[in-house]
Amino acid sequence: MSGLKLQLKTPNGISYEQPTGLFINGEFVKGKSGKTFEVIAPYNEEVIANISEAEPVDVDVAVDAAEEAFKTWGHCDTETRARVLFKLADLIEQKTELFAAVESWDNGKTIAMATGDVGLVVSTFRNYGGWATKITGDTIETDADHFTYTRREPVGVCGMVIPWNFPLLMLSWKIAPALACGCTMILKSAESTPLTALLFASLLNEAGVPKGVVNIISGYGPAGAALASHSRIHKIAFTGSTATGRKIMESAAKSNVKNITLELGGKSPNLFFDDCDFDKSVKLALAAIFYNSGEVCSAGSRVYIQEGIYDKFLAALKTEVEKLKVGSPFDKDNYYGAQTNKLQFDKVMDYIQKGVEEGAQLVTGGKRIGNKGYYITPTIFADVSHSHTIATEEIFGPVLAVFKFKTVDEAIALANSSEYGLGSGIHTESLDRAIYVAHRLRAGSVWVNTYNDFHPQVPFGGYGTSGIGRELGKEVLENFTETKAIRIAGILGGR
Ligand code: NAD
Repeated sequence: MSGLKLQLKTPNGISYEQPTGLFINGEFVKGKSGKTFEVIAPYNEEVIANISEAEPVDVDVAVDAAEEAFKTWGHCDTETRARVLFKLADLIEQKTELFAAVESWDNGKTIAMATGDVGLVVSTFRNYGGWATKITGDTIETDADHFTYTRREPVGVCGMVIPWNFPLLMLSWKIAPALACGCTMILKSAESTPLTALLFASLLNEAGVPKGVVNIISGYGPAGAALASHSRIHKIAFTGSTATGRKIMESAAKSNVKNITLELGGKSPNLFFDDCDFDKSVKLALAAIFYNSGEVCSAGSRVYIQEGIYDKFLAALKTEVEKLKVGSPFDKDNYYGAQTNKLQFDKVMDYIQKGVEEGAQLVTGGKRIGNKGYYITPTIFADVSHSHTIATEEIFGPVLAVFKFKTVDEAIALANSSEYGLGSGIHTESLDRAIYVAHRLRAGSVWVNTYNDFHPQVPFGGYGTSGIGRELGKEVLENFTETKAIRIAGILGGR
């Protein structure tokens, strides 16, 4: 073991060098305090590595580097930014197997899911590579004696804080558009899943990212809080819980009124009408909640079934879910792997207990699998009422609440009876009904006859307590730019 790199072998046999330092100003360094923390593999609860922990003082050093780098990166030609983004996409793609293996090890998600994530990461970098040369302002005609135009200028030094459910993907959703816009940045990964962010950092110099443009730090809440309250950071992009989002908003307001975007929690409704394609819909209902072991902010955790198909649909859900295998992320037969950390595992088990105590009907699941690794059986509750805790609070695990409805308008009312508004699903063969319902749901995404169907060109974000702002699409470019209006007066009409 060297100071800031470890020789490791993933459980599926890939040997590689894992960086363990903080990536600041183009190099891996130790945190000022010298402190490290353990990274635990959720699939077997063993320690993978000890890595450097960032504290607020390290954030200051990273801000210095990002501020200096902004002087050139913020004004460089746009093709340079495009090249860097395309190169990053290529480098990640070449190491897909490694990234997927490390992500599975660190997060507990299956190799298949992690491989899918890496594919989306690559697409995200390519998508914003394309955007880098197409960010433009407007000319505005007001009268013959003025020349007025706008510029979309990079917002400046950005702070980014991400969660542990899609470690590399969440990183790409923030870093790729920020680079395209000409920002510099400090990203803090989640304390339970820092490994792929550090691997990503090890590609930055080779991709031609100038030193200080992207800084990656690992650590706990206080390092994130230091980013949110920093007076020389101009924007904070956060994904995580609503509780932390509220704190970030407060810190942003109390420090320098920095620009914020928040991608927070959800309790997303998934509606199944009598006329849906039955077999396909059953599969989609299960995938919507059990994909990535339920650790998806837009998981379809509330399923509403119209009364005409309710009994048959519920029976089919039970039959099909009991066929799903859960276990080691490295076993290809498993549909999902382990919950990402002990805290989350305990939280999910508490919610299951609460569901039973409050009188919801446990249709299937509700148990831990084995005694090593954080595995939970896919769990379905029926006869759930909106007064039950499991109907309203985000569980962020493999637990589905099933409800019955009669009419289209009742379904809309029930779907909208949540403080959140992130994802939603509509399953029907009627285009007319799909449009009627889609236009009335209070949710940032509506998936019709599909679910969790992400694409880098399509914006994503929430209504209500699910957050502020949008990621992906062209909408995210708003988050990382300021609009400057320049108005030039003519002198005597130019004569
Ligand atoms: P969390 O809010 O506890 O942690 C998220 C990140 O914030 C971590 O990096 C953590 O270290 C950091 N953090 C903790 N306290 C902080 C503070 N005071 N100031 C700044 N940063 C701080 O959330 P979590 O439990 O790790 O993640 C799960 C949550 O994330 C769920 O609620 C889920 O819905 C949400 N999520 C949302 C989206 C989305 O796009 N809307 C995507 C993924 C996850």
